[in-house]
Amino acid sequence: MGKRIDREMAAYRGRVAPSPTGLLHLGHARTFWIAQRRALAAGGALILRNEDLDPHRSRPQFAEAMLEDMRWLGLRWQEGPDAGGPFGPYTQSQRRPVYLQTWRQLLAAGWLYPCRCSRKDLAQIAQAPHGEEAIYPGICRPPEPFFDDSTAFASPAGVNWRFRVPLGEVVVFEDSGVGTQRFAAGEDFGDFLVWRRDDVPAYQLAVVADDAAMQITEVVRGADLLRSTARQLLIARALGLPSPAWHHCELLRDARGERLAKRHDALSLRELRRQGMSPQQVRRLAGLHD
Ligand code: GLU
Repeated sequence: MGKRIDREMAAYRGRVAPSPTGLLHLGHARTFWIAQRRALAAGGALILRNEDLDPHRSRPQFAEAMLEDMRWLGLRWQEGPDAGGPFGPYTQSQRRPVYLQTWRQLLAAGWLYPCRCSRKDLAQIAQAPHGEEAIYPGICRPPEPFFDDSTAFASPAGVNWRFRVPLGEVVVFEDSGVGTQRFAAGEDFGDFLVWRRDDVPAYQLAVVADDAAMQITEVVRGADLLRSTARQLLIARALGLPSPAWHHCELLRDARGERLAKRHDALSLRELRRQGMSPQQVRRLAGLHD
């Protein structure tokens, strides 16, 4: 209760957090525009975070392209990799110490365990984006919480690290975009990765650490991340951090009803611009009317 009041009284801080793994498309335009609109309506700030966490998938040229395309569309942010600000750096690949500290804290509190399952064993897990991974069957989950008593793990590298979800607990949260949400730990998602064997922090850990460190009060993003929100709430609670408010946006679908993804290059902002569309026309196409 106390936390909620604090949050409502705190100045609004929203964020947009694209990953530079491809060109931004109409779906991003829609979500980011809504994020900007909500920040403006609240008289608050919009923060841009470059989520280039995964070195294998991120490309500097996409990071440049996304900034340019966002500016072209009419988006403005008050803090970001280009604008600076009090909570920088705003580029995830430069924030490793923050993530390491978060990993240490979760490990010390018994929320993590090392997992030696290979990618081959769990092929689906490795392929899924945004931690939308298949439910981990619990092969390496110890019966009791894991504490690194032998201090064997000075650093996370070399094994996968999973968050031990409270099996059976239903995570409930209010969402101002799509209404009340409920996800059951162990059914809708399992023990998820927080750090990868190849020494890359996972999205779920990084985003919780960053949203807290950057004092984000509301997260606006696509409804594809609803299940991730449930995971992120568990991480935040384990760390004793307040959680932001949530506003997930319905996803745009193409003519066949499939959700837009980066592979739909024809609907990239770049391509629409090349075809001569104005930012306003692109916003209309994305279902935005202001
Ligand atoms: N970086 C993620 C993406 O590009 C979004 C993360 C988030 O908004 O929490 O889809």
